[in-house]
Amino acid sequence: MICVGIARGRHRHMIAEHKFLADNGIGLVELRLDFIQGKVQVKRLFRSRPCPAIATCRRAADGGHWAGSEEERQLVLRTAIVEGTEYVDLEDDIASQIRRYGPTKRIVSHHDFHKTPADLASLHKRLADLDADIVKIATMSNHPSDNLRMLEMVQSATVPTIGICMGDIGMPTRVLTGRFGSPFTYATFHEDRLLAPGQIGWRQMRDVYRYDQIGAATRIYGVVADPVGHSLSPVVHNAALAAAGIDAVYLPFRVPAEQLDEFVWEAGRWPLSGLSVTIPHKEAILRHVTTKDDLVTAIGATNTLTFTPDGISAHNTDATAAVESLEAALQRQGGEGLVDVTAVKSALVLGAGGAARAVAFGLRKRGIEVTVCSRTVERAKRIAAEVGCKAIDWTARYKVPYDCIVNATPVGMHPLVNETPFEKEHLRPYMVVFDTVYNPENTLLVKEARAAGCRIVTGVDMFVRQAAIQFRLWHGVDPSETVMREALKRATASAKLPG
Ligand code: NAP
Repeated sequence: MICVGIARGRHRHMIAEHKFLADNGIGLVELRLDFIQGKVQVKRLFRSRPCPAIATCRRAADGGHWAGSEEERQLVLRTAIVEGTEYVDLEDDIASQIRRYGPTKRIVSHHDFHKTPADLASLHKRLADLDADIVKIATMSNHPSDNLRMLEMVQSATVPTIGICMGDIGMPTRVLTGRFGSPFTYATFHEDRLLAPGQIGWRQMRDVYRYDQIGAATRIYGVVADPVGHSLSPVVHNAALAAAGIDAVYLPFRVPAEQLDEFVWEAGRWPLSGLSVTIPHKEAILRHVTTKDDLVTAIGATNTLTFTPDGISAHNTDATAAVESLEAALQRQGGEGLVDVTAVKSALVLGAGGAARAVAFGLRKRGIEVTVCSRTVERAKRIAAEVGCKAIDWTARYKVPYDCIVNATPVGMHPLVNETPFEKEHLRPYMVVFDTVYNPENTLLVKEARAAGCRIVTGVDMFVRQAAIQFRLWHGVDPSETVMREALKRATASAKLPG
């Protein structure tokens, strides 16, 4: 069950949101009474409530907004109990001062906005002993192993327990706490109105992560990165999992570089079934793998791990996705001249980072003559030596014409949407223009190339394809690429996220 926190300053707004949520199938809300401006009219909020509620009134020290006295705060909570609220949230230091009354269940809570205490078991016992129907512990996660300790505490508890880690490192615990036995999790009413660090909105919890369908057998996948908050992989993979009816969930795991080893060593405790790997871990994580495909060996970087009883296997789906996207675009767009990828003889790859390296490698493998062009020419030279291609300086990119231009720099990505890495004067109708940037899909380069009559491959084509190859590796079936594409487009349209 998802409990949605409602934090509004006016009674009528709180009542309206409560009704809206009940009408949308939400079965429990948390009324954050500390947000009400002026005197809290408890009866007005709780009488004829449209669905069950938790009465919560937080002090500033616990992350709340309560401005009145402690005596008044406790009176508000007592009044909510008298009104028969289904649950009341009592912080551990006041739980013994507010006695059990009527059918209201007591949530005895503890918050730590700085750390996850070392001894969660003792903390849990102390809270449970305060006549708790439910124990709630919410602590800041500073390390992925904090998350595991929290979830394992929930799993071993004999009293119903909600265990959540805050912060973006802790985000997976919000989605997985039910899998480990929590009676419910918390989400916010609105994505932009977060009540605690790392929280997500109820629609995302319900529709993207499918919280209510996660059970003990649900397999866990995710993307490991730092930062990870902007990643669109959860949106794409979870949409495809839902469409295919697969019992699995895909989560964002923020893991700082210095915590990567421990995160991988502890993979069996979640347990993790597969990971997408992105910046900055694509190379470092290879020290943990048991087997690598040929592309990983050649490129020296992985973007896909699969966990099996025999160990960890590493794949690289970026290079294959780049070539397959090019092939598909040429077939789809037909036209004069280049009809398939074998007709592309020369390609200019702009940029010399991870994407450039994977694309250069994939194109080179197909026999295409590749030139890598970078602001930092040493990086281009390094790729050229590894891949067996040419390297040129950024200023030399217009000197020779190429069949295919690939943008593997962030130029053109939101918010710099009015920039292009390749001026339109140099575009020719016979060229294939491949922009790996996917947010937005129609970059300035893509728009100008289309206007010049070029054939186009977009970053959305490549992103969806690399995710689809991962999906096939992990689940043994083809995902709906249409579903993935639509989910990606919706996400980039609704939130102008950095790529
Ligand atoms: P990266 O490792 O940071 O490399 C970025 C490259 O772009 C570097 O060579 C950098 O040059 C160059 N660059 C950055 N800003 C530039 C500018 N203003 N002008 C010229 N060159 C510039 O990043 P990455 O992982 O390769 O990703 C690059 C882009 O590829 C991303 O922004 C993303 O949009 C796209 N991408 C797409 C997919 C997909 O599936 N569609 C997958 C991965 C990446 P310096 O070395 O001189 O800084």
